[in-house]
Order: sequence, then C-alpha cells, then structure tokens
Amino acid sequence: MKMMRVLLAAFLGASCMAGAYAQERPGAKSVNAIKAVRFGKLWDAKGKLWANAIVIVEGDRIRNVTTDGLAIPAGAETIDLSKYTGLPGLIDVHTHMTIYTDETPGEPMLKQLTANPPAIEVFLARKGALRTLEAGVKTVRDLGADQYMDIAMRDLINHGEMIGPRMFVCGYGLYVTNTPYKPGMNSPAGGVADGVPEVLKVVRQQIAAGADLIKMYASTGTDDDVTGFQTYNYEEIKAAVDAAHKFGKKIAIHSYGPDGARDAVRAGTDSLEHATDMDDATILEMVKRGTFYVPTIDHNRYYIDNGDKIGYAPGYKEKLQAFIPRNLETARKAHKAGVKFAMGSDAIYTMFGQNTRELGWFVKAGMTPEQALRTATTNAAELLGKEKELGAVAPGYFADLVAVEGDPLADIDVAIYKVKWVMKGGAVLVDKTKDRTR
Ligand SMILES: [Zn+2]
Repeated sequence: MKMMRVLLAAFLGASCMAGAYAQERPGAKSVNAIKAVRFGKLWDAKGKLWANAIVIVEGDRIRNVTTDGLAIPAGAETIDLSKYTGLPGLIDVHTHMTIYTDETPGEPMLKQLTANPPAIEVFLARKGALRTLEAGVKTVRDLGADQYMDIAMRDLINHGEMIGPRMFVCGYGLYVTNTPYKPGMNSPAGGVADGVPEVLKVVRQQIAAGADLIKMYASTGTDDDVTGFQTYNYEEIKAAVDAAHKFGKKIAIHSYGPDGARDAVRAGTDSLEHATDMDDATILEMVKRGTFYVPTIDHNRYYIDNGDKIGYAPGYKEKLQAFIPRNLETARKAHKAGVKFAMGSDAIYTMFGQNTRELGWFVKAGMTPEQALRTATTNAAELLGKEKELGAVAPGYFADLVAVEGDPLADIDVAIYKVKWVMKGGAVLVDKTKDRTR
C-alpha cells in the first residue's frame, strides 16, 4: 500500500512535468535552456571521479563538465545536488516494456497479458516506464513485443507524449513454429520463421516496420521454463545475423542453453542473452569477437518472488532455484575470461523499477562496483552503437544524469536502491531529494 502511494505520487509528479518535457523536445524552444547541475561527486564513466562537479546542460545535451563556478553561464538554472553522487543515465539492454501487468488482485499476470488488447497494453505500460526511470534507467533496448507495441511506445516517448526511457526496439523476435508454451500463449505470429528464406523475410519485415535491431530466440526457455533446447540451427542463425548486419542493424540472440549460444556466437551475434552452462570454447570465442553477454540472472529471482501472482504451475521455485547458481557460475567464468558484459534485466510484468538489481549479481560474479556500472553505461552504449551519445557524462552526450545518495563505487546497492533524482535529455523527471521519508 505504501509503495502504491509512493508510485502514485511519482506518477502524478511526472504527469505534471509532461508539459515541461514536451517543450524540451529536440528542436523545440525552451524558456530556460541552460542548466548547471552541481554534484558532490561525479563518476563520469570516462575514467574520472570528480569532486564538486558542475555539469552544464544546454537543451537535451551536456555542454561541458567543470569544477569552475565561473563557467556557469549567466541566467542558467542551478540545481544543487552537492549532497549526492552523479552518474550517467543507466541503460538496460534487455526489457519487454509492453509486457507490463499491474497487480490486480486475483488476476494472474499471465492471464492479464492475453486478455488486454494492444492499445490497453501500451497505455498501461507507461507505469512501468516511469518505474524504470525511477531506477535511474534512461535508455532501454527492448527485446520483443507483439503487434509493434514497442514501436508505438518508442515513438510516443520520442514525441514527448509518454514519459519513459528512450527505447531501441526490435518488433517481433524470431521464433520457430512451436506448440503453445503456455495455455493461450502462442509465440507472436508475426515473428514465426522456419528455414533460411523465412528468416530473411521476417528480418526484413521488422526493419521495414521500423525496428532498431533484430532479436532471435535460438532456444526454448522463458518464465519458469528453464529448458535450453536449441531451436534454430547454425544456418538459420547465420542468415539472421548477416541480414541484420547488411541493413546496418545489430542482433540479440536468446539462448538459455549452451548449444544455441555456441552457434549464435560463431554466427557473429552482437549480444547473447541468458546463455547458461556455456562451454569454455564459446566463452573464449566471445572474448575474441567482442560479443556482449547479457546473462539476465535477476529475473529468475523475480520469478521466484512473484511466481504465484504470475500464475506459474507448482514446482517453479525449485526449478528456478536450481537454475540461478548455474546462471551465476557461467557469468563468473565469462567475467574471469574477459567477456564484455551489458546489463539486461529482462524486466516484464511488475519487475519494472527493479531493472538494476542485476548489478548486484554482477558483483557476486566477481566484478568491482565500477565494472558493474560500466555494464549499464559505457558497455551498454557500445552495444547500442551509441557510445558517443549515451552512457557517459561528457560534452556532446545526452544530458542523462542520475543522483544517488552514497558511494556507488564502494557499494553497488547505492546505485540500485538510492536513486534520488533523474534527468533525461535535460528534463528532470524524478526528484526525491525533498522526500522526508527515506
Ligand atoms: Zn527477454
């Protein structure tokens, strides 16, 4: 109940700011275009930890970072966050923003998903988008939606009609023909492709529809189903990878198990999602090729915590509890070997707002808090191909800033649980700095 009230307050607050946000769209005129944001400390993701940093923001971009108060242009609006540590806006490279459900009592989340028409789903998803922002996440790579709801949501956000993280979307993920994996839950028809010609056709369809990247499901496994049987063969995966790259798009490949992972890496995928029990040769190949690994450990924890409300069949806890250590162990091996990681939550249902808990698992897998933060900033930006605009606090970058209370380089939980203030593209979208209840 308390949580509901906080969320409602945040939601109303953000709604009130919708007007201001709309005025600050790129190309639109803004009355007060220059802001100077003061941080006690600032981790800029460019290798520098600043003391008493001032970030000068002009429109939706960062003009410069300085410690010199005299550099603040006359008439700039000053925002004093000197009690806090500044971070770049965080990036979650694996979400399903349109697979949002609320907690309507007695209505299993799985059922809600099949009951709602797309327009309702997109409208409801704005709440998940706000919770995502509250976690400090300003950019997401959204990996699979039905009916191009993701494209609609991306465009509504870019036009300032909906408040949420900027989205990079894939339309339909590619699936092989299969039997329903849950009663009433068929793979979205638009993504079904069997054999190389159909794979090429479906890749082209997503790009024609406006997708930013391609997603392919190369194994079974989702929700409480932790099987990882390979579904696409090497030739089909290679066809999807090459077609995506030919169009200048990146590709994310889902594989719960090691076989699909091995073929996805050899075929040249840009990122590999989930991938448990990978063999050493595949891990080495990832290091050699620079393939990003997005292990999505924490969503299994979320499923354990919420399985009854979601509507999983009995036995899900045991299955997921046995899976998590394998997931973590694979991440540990990959990190030790030097694989590049990007933070992906696989947030669905009510998990939005918990997006960055994955960072806690990365520290458990052997990363320092700073290495973990890189997976959600510079690494994630590189995976998006936006390393010159996102994931750092530096001149020319989007003015995506987060203020946290404490030292996230000493304790990763600070970045996860102590987000107090959020700016996206120069607009302040979350401000809890005046909250008395902490
Ligand atoms: Zn996913």
